[in-house]
Amino acid sequence: MKKYIAKNLIYQPIQYMRGQDVRPYMNVLENNQYKPINEINKIRNKKLSDLIENIYHNSIYYRNIFDAMDLHPKDIRNTKDLQKLPTLSKREILENKDHLMNQAHNSSSLYTRKTGGSTGMTLHFKKEAKALAINEAIMWRCYKWYNIEVGDKQVRFWGVPVTSRLRWKEYIKDKILNRIRISAFDISESSCLEQYKRIKKFKPAYFYGYTTAIYGFCFFMKKLGIDLNSLNLKAVICTAEKMYPHHLEMFNDMFDCPIVDEYGSSETGIIAFQCKKGNMHLMSDHMCIEFLDENDKQVRPGELGRIVITDLVSYAMPLIRYEIGDMGKPSEKKCSCGVNLPIMEIVEGRKEDFIRTKEGQLVHAAYLCYTLKDDAVHEFKMYQNDINALSVQIVKSPTFSTNTESILERKLRTALGNDIQITFEYLNRIPREKSGKLRYFVSKLRE
Ligand SMILES: [Zn+2]
Repeated sequence: MKKYIAKNLIYQPIQYMRGQDVRPYMNVLENNQYKPINEINKIRNKKLSDLIENIYHNSIYYRNIFDAMDLHPKDIRNTKDLQKLPTLSKREILENKDHLMNQAHNSSSLYTRKTGGSTGMTLHFKKEAKALAINEAIMWRCYKWYNIEVGDKQVRFWGVPVTSRLRWKEYIKDKILNRIRISAFDISESSCLEQYKRIKKFKPAYFYGYTTAIYGFCFFMKKLGIDLNSLNLKAVICTAEKMYPHHLEMFNDMFDCPIVDEYGSSETGIIAFQCKKGNMHLMSDHMCIEFLDENDKQVRPGELGRIVITDLVSYAMPLIRYEIGDMGKPSEKKCSCGVNLPIMEIVEGRKEDFIRTKEGQLVHAAYLCYTLKDDAVHEFKMYQNDINALSVQIVKSPTFSTNTESILERKLRTALGNDIQITFEYLNRIPREKSGKLRYFVSKLRE
């Protein structure tokens, strides 16, 4: 489909009919990013005051919290004041859902978004149309950094729904959004060649999707000697999974265009987006993003903290100091790209992503990912089923030899010690999550 048709005759009218017209927000958001930081903070604080005032009157859950703490909406005017309020965990949302909801919103007009459930807990979030439109406008603001516009053709490396009704729904959505979908469940040599022919004919402007799915596709393209640069992509946007150095190495090898890291969630939309200078800019004009230590105090720049989000555009189901489950570092760095939104250092993965040893040591699974990302290993996944046991699933690559396993085991033991029992299992493919994502590490230990 031509870009003009996709944008003006399909995307915009449909968004308008759904009450999710992005146009009223695009210019405002576009301008916000170039404002001096104190003005960006002012915009954010005004949104925060408005939200707090509203939910104090309309959310029983928050009304009770304010009253119990003897707080008034006027006491919360900026990010620092926010620290007077408690954080909000996924469990608390699950247990207080009805009281949390904004009484002023008609629930039948709300849209539902589901979290991936990688923490073992699936949550359904309610969003009003306006919040979704703003999230969408934020997305286009970021994509514009790479000249990607509404209507540009996208190849989407993503999950495919299991039921035919949902598959049909996604198919229509893909058509409307001018994109084709490559199943993250089906990345193999033969399927990738077929998909490549489809992509070539489609002439996409950019790739978007799960890091491991795009990586898998590149792996087979490289093997088949296919040059992806002939696609002339504007960018490759990787999301939902952490990009490790071996991913980036492959992408830089396969593409001349920018490789972009996106950090977002289905609950909040984009939280941070990588600019052309390689910095992750926070969407601070429409959310408060805090980085907290174990005592819920702000960490210093450069220190690792739990990421906690206050979504300033979601009124229907307010998320104040929401524990999103990721770790990251705030940064004081200034970027020369022109965008003045503050910067964070790349997300460190979820706090459940730590391997625990009997001695009480915590080893980040990412560290072991580097260990396992041997040339001989095509894909892998680790499970900690017990404090004394780690099992590793491996998909061998052609260079896997008889002594590879003992080399890997030795590397793992350097970090984990000699007491832990390590078992290897060999598969043809690592099963993906329901969403299509590959999780490298699953801990079955209780807190
Ligand atoms: Zn920048």
